[in-house]
Amino acid sequence: MTRVLSVASECAPLVKTGGLADVVGALPAALARQGVEMRTLLPYYPAVQSKVTVTGTLFDVADLFGGPARILSATSGALDLILIDAGHLYDRAGSIYIGPDGRDWGDNPERFAALSWVAAKTGAEGAGGWTPEVIHAHDWQAGFVPEYLHMMGATSRVGTILTIHNIAFHGLADPGRLGALRLNRNRYTREGFEFWGRISALKAGLMGADRLTTVSPTYAAELMRDEFGMGLDGVMRLRRDALSGILNGIDEDVWNPATDPAIIPYKSLKEKTVNKQALRTEMGLPDSAGPLCCVVSRLTEQKGLDLLLETLPTLLHRGGQLALLGSGEKWMEDAFRNAARDANVAVKIGYDEGLSHRLIAGSDAILVPSRFEPCGLTQLYGLRYGTIPVVALTGGLADTVIHASPAALGMGVASGIQFSPVTADALRGALVQSCDLYAQPAVWEQMQGNAMRQPVGWGPSAKAYAGLYRDVTKH
Ligand code: ADP
Repeated sequence: MTRVLSVASECAPLVKTGGLADVVGALPAALARQGVEMRTLLPYYPAVQSKVTVTGTLFDVADLFGGPARILSATSGALDLILIDAGHLYDRAGSIYIGPDGRDWGDNPERFAALSWVAAKTGAEGAGGWTPEVIHAHDWQAGFVPEYLHMMGATSRVGTILTIHNIAFHGLADPGRLGALRLNRNRYTREGFEFWGRISALKAGLMGADRLTTVSPTYAAELMRDEFGMGLDGVMRLRRDALSGILNGIDEDVWNPATDPAIIPYKSLKEKTVNKQALRTEMGLPDSAGPLCCVVSRLTEQKGLDLLLETLPTLLHRGGQLALLGSGEKWMEDAFRNAARDANVAVKIGYDEGLSHRLIAGSDAILVPSRFEPCGLTQLYGLRYGTIPVVALTGGLADTVIHASPAALGMGVASGIQFSPVTADALRGALVQSCDLYAQPAVWEQMQGNAMRQPVGWGPSAKAYAGLYRDVTKH
C-alpha cells in the first residue's frame, strides 16, 4: 500500500464549486483498487461540518496563520479525511473563495497557505501515527506544499505531485506578505515562486513538486504554448520532463443512467425519451422537431458561452432548443435570461445538482464550446447518458470525443461533434451539423450507442496515478 495525502480546497460531495471537487472526491475510491491508501486534507468549512463524522483530534497548532487550529480526523462515506478546524480562516458563510462583496476573500493567500502548511507538517511529522509517503497537491491552493516541505527538511522523505486542474488561477499575493505567508525570502526569485513581481502559489508548486500532472494529454501539450499557459508556459516547458496528462474519469455510480435517482432511470434509448418529455415539461419547453441541447456550466468567458449567445438564432431557426443551467458572470446571466424570452430557450440561473442530472438525461445534445478546457466533465456525463457532446476541439474535449467526420461516420465510430477554431462561425457550423445528423435517426442513434459504450471511468487513469505515486516514493 502506498500512503498518499491528497490536498485540495474542495471535495465532492462535501464542498464543490467545479470539476476539481469531483476529481478529488473520486480519487480515493478509484485508487484504493490500485493499492493506494489515500487520505484527503481539506478545510473544515461550515458546509463540511454537517456532512462528516469526526473521529478524533490528530494535533493542535497554536498559531496557524493568525489563530489556533485543531487538525481532526473524520470520515464521510468512503472518504478518509483530515480536516483543518480553524475558525479564523474558514468559518465564514457563503462561498469558499468569495466574500459578500463579490471579490476574493482578502486573506485567501493565507487561508490556503495554511492548507499547504498543514499538509507539509503532516508529511514531515505524521498525524496520529499515519505518515504519507506522497503528497498529491491540487491547484494553487496546495501550491506551497513543496516549499514548506523544503523548509521543514522533509523533501528527501516525502514525494510530491502537483495536479493542474486549471492554470488560469495562480494564487497571487504581494511580496509584502512573504512574512505573513511564512515563506523563505531567498526563494522569492524567478527560479522560485516569484511571478512578475508577485508571489505565486501555483508557480511554487510547479517549480517545486517532483512531478506535475494535468487532467488531459492535450491540455498537457497546450500548457507549453503561450496561448494556453497564462504566462506559465515557460515554466511548463522548463518542467516538461516532469509533466504528464492523465485524463479525468467520472464517478460511474453517481452518473449512471440505469440507476440515477434524479431521473427516470433508463437502459435503452427508447426509455431516454421519457426523460426528454419530463424535462420539456419541467423547463416549460414546447415540442419541437430539432434537437434539445443543454448546457450545464459556469457562465464565464472560459466556457465560450458568449459564442453560443451569438449563434443561438441558427439553432432555433433549425428547430433546435436550448435548456441551460449555470451561474457566473452577471452580464452573461442577464444575457441568457434575456435569450429565454424565446419559447424554445429555457434558462435556470443557479447551481442545482438534481437538475444537472435531469438536463443531461433528457437532452439530445450537450454543448461545451470552451475556449480552453483542461478536461471537462459534462461532456463525459453526456457520453454516458447517450447525450451527444458538441464541443470545442481543445484540451480534454479533444481527447474524449470522436468527431463525426465523414470517415468516422463511415466507420460507425463517431460519438460527438467537435469544432475548431473556437469561433462563432465554427460553432454555428457545428450546430448546423448537429441538426442535420439529428434529422437522420439511424445515424444519430448509432452515435448515441457509441457514446454510451465509450469508457469514461477511472480505470486507466487510476493506474497511471498509482504508477506515478510509486515513482516519486523516496525509499
Ligand atoms: P469546471 O471545473 O471548469 O467548472 P468541469 O466540466 O470540469 O468544469 O466541471 C464542472 C462540474 O460542475 C460538473 O460536475 C458540472 O456538472 C458541475 N456544474 C457546473 N455548473 C453547475 C450548475 N449550475 N449546477 C449544477 N452543477 C454544475
